[in-house]
Amino acid sequence: MSTTTKAYAAQTPTSSLAAWNFERREPGNHDVQFDILFCGVCHSDLHQIRNEWFPGIFPMVPGHEIVGRVTKVGSHVKKFKLGDLVGVGCMVDSCRVCDSCKEGIEQYCLNGNSGTYNSTEQDKVTPTYGGYSKLMVANEDFVLKISEKLNLAAVAPLLCAGITTYSPLRHWKVGKGHKVGVLGLGGLGHMAVKFAVSFGAEVTMLSTSPSKEADAKRLGAHHFLLTTEKENMKKFKNYFDFIIDTVSAPHDYNAYLSLLKISGTHICVGVPPTPLQIQGFSLLGGRKSISGSAIGGIAETQEMLDYCAEHNIVSDIELIDIKDINSAYERMLKGDVRYRFVIDIATL
Ligand code: NAP
Ligand code: ZN
Ligand code: ZN
Repeated sequence: MSTTTKAYAAQTPTSSLAAWNFERREPGNHDVQFDILFCGVCHSDLHQIRNEWFPGIFPMVPGHEIVGRVTKVGSHVKKFKLGDLVGVGCMVDSCRVCDSCKEGIEQYCLNGNSGTYNSTEQDKVTPTYGGYSKLMVANEDFVLKISEKLNLAAVAPLLCAGITTYSPLRHWKVGKGHKVGVLGLGGLGHMAVKFAVSFGAEVTMLSTSPSKEADAKRLGAHHFLLTTEKENMKKFKNYFDFIIDTVSAPHDYNAYLSLLKISGTHICVGVPPTPLQIQGFSLLGGRKSISGSAIGGIAETQEMLDYCAEHNIVSDIELIDIKDINSAYERMLKGDVRYRFVIDIATL
């Protein structure tokens, strides 16, 4: 038994997204089924439908910033009941037995977690389909509780953009007394500004877009550095304890490493399609580190959602109809998104 589910999919890496139906499984004993209400549009969706990272699984239904309301629960489900507001982020399962899973960092599952789309269930065969669709079914352990207090459409991006920036800021204990640079003001970047400011750090927005200066300040950034102007860059040499790099396209890491203090850390969360090119001297000249971070574990994602509900933090969004998804991608490629597109799934 399964449910025929309306969706938008890419049939090949070169085709636009278009309507497509697929079968969602009936909820098993430990599964939660929910009607999807909103789904955020992440730059990772675009990288993946265009095969920019690795050969994908097609047809591909993207979307991993998913929120909705529960319509069915399996007989053994304990955490959820009909009518609850819930969310699913970038993972729908993991092996549960490796050291990472036991530690609650399922994003680093040593046997490979099940991505929400462009991946497989833990049987390593059944393809997974994401949130540009009407209906979701997932194991309750990978379903998050969502507060009724916040604007639901603006909560959706927290499931990826939110946790991906919250997790490294917590890991490196960023807070009062730290100077943080946020590189790239898009979906991840604007959440990084909100969290770093909320944690008490001094925040500088590093952007290629002069038109985003006023917004950066409104989001809470203390300074704005237009990175295309060489003289501006010189002013911030050896300045930052941390730079959180959210840029989706190839860029010059060496230029940004020069802005770090001695022993400073450059944290990559953006994943450009081509390998990083880093001069050894950019690192050893100041005992600098370059590091990376992927999303966050399930427990930490719930902690982040609860933190947002408590501190009234959501994403700044532009709500779109599903038929406008392809033009939204084109705008995202130009850096023209303020600051996350969210699909109103009622239009699907
Ligand atoms: P986005 O909304 O498109 O934002 C990216 C921003 O990067 C742009 O708004 C722009 O900001 C800046 N940018 C773009 N091209 C640039 C260039 N050539 N040079 C310098 N800056 C440039 O994308 P997003 O959804 O935030 O995602 C950002 C990246 O993070 C993507 O690669 C995505 O796949 C990755 N990601 C990683 C994880 C993870 O787990 N680590 C999770 C989610 C997403 P300005 O206009 O301010 O310059
Ligand atoms: Zn994402
Ligand atoms: Zn595991």
